[in-house]
Amino acid sequence: MYRARTRRGELHHTFKNKYIMMKTHTYLILLLSLTISATYSTTAQEKTTGKSLIEGLFQLNEIDMHVHAGKERPLPLNEWIDFFARDGRKVMLLLDHLELYRMDDIKNKEWIKKNNFNDWYPNTKTGKYDFIKDISTVESRKDVLTFRGWEIWEGEIDEGLEKEPMKEAEVIGWHISKAAWNGKAPAGKELIHRARQIIDIQKEFPVPMIIFHPFAGHIKAVKEAATKNGRNLSSINKEEYRYFTPEKQKELIEIIGGSSVYIEMERGMIPYWSDPVVREAFTEDIRPLAEGGVKFTVSTDAHGTGVFNESYTPEFYCKDLGITPENVNAIIRELLAIRAKKNIR
Ligand SMILES: [Zn+2]
Ligand SMILES: [Zn+2]
Repeated sequence: MYRARTRRGELHHTFKNKYIMMKTHTYLILLLSLTISATYSTTAQEKTTGKSLIEGLFQLNEIDMHVHAGKERPLPLNEWIDFFARDGRKVMLLLDHLELYRMDDIKNKEWIKKNNFNDWYPNTKTGKYDFIKDISTVESRKDVLTFRGWEIWEGEIDEGLEKEPMKEAEVIGWHISKAAWNGKAPAGKELIHRARQIIDIQKEFPVPMIIFHPFAGHIKAVKEAATKNGRNLSSINKEEYRYFTPEKQKELIEIIGGSSVYIEMERGMIPYWSDPVVREAFTEDIRPLAEGGVKFTVSTDAHGTGVFNESYTPEFYCKDLGITPENVNAIIRELLAIRAKKNIR
């Protein structure tokens, strides 16, 4: 009896313990599964919410929105484009420096000879229009989607624009350079000033516009100034490289966020990317812009076949900067929509 009772007591005790343990187990399992499902659905949401269909997007390395295809072109036009198509490009903005078409016959001949170029557009009166007509002919290609445009030096915004040829462009890219700023590489403040002017020009020329290569010159200038002052390059701190203050970022987002003014992120940024301090400063400069609705373009700024010596990988720096394929596809979608609208009668 005693044993039995004890046993029964033990049994009861064990059973009670087991019951509690089972209850605890069930509770833990339930809690765990709830946690897992919550985590899973968050991850699933992050993966799908707000993302475009892959089918409707060109990948970054398929896009090149700055290819010189005019007077400096090393090959006949279709052969030049073949090179890019073979390298994986599916969308290209073909353009040239507008100023190269302002030389008179003598200057043009001298320039061609000096640089050992082919004289693709020898008529200095009609050259700019011959070029536009030429690049329009490749728009029928089925392997690559091309748009046509001009690259114009930003100084012309202040000095006066040559408006007639601008009417032929589907895109205008503004060549940012220190030459327009008395030799001092422009930074955030100057870029904001230009952005306002460009928005203004768009009232007369309603086409997408790109601010070309605005950042590399500034980074280079910071490094050069340090060297000149006898400093070691590794002593430059992040703040010295910064292009924008948070206030300037907010201002720029207000001017061009969600607009048809884009900022170029060209391949020339890659050499600077290997410097961790530059990378950190640059990420702090650019990421908030991308997250705030500023749209970017990617490109090689190709002038010659040298661009094919290295692979084209804009995602290498775009990823950390928060520049997604959705962001970079914005200009393509806009250009396609403008073309489609023009074709509707
Ligand atoms: Zn340029
Ligand atoms: Zn260029």
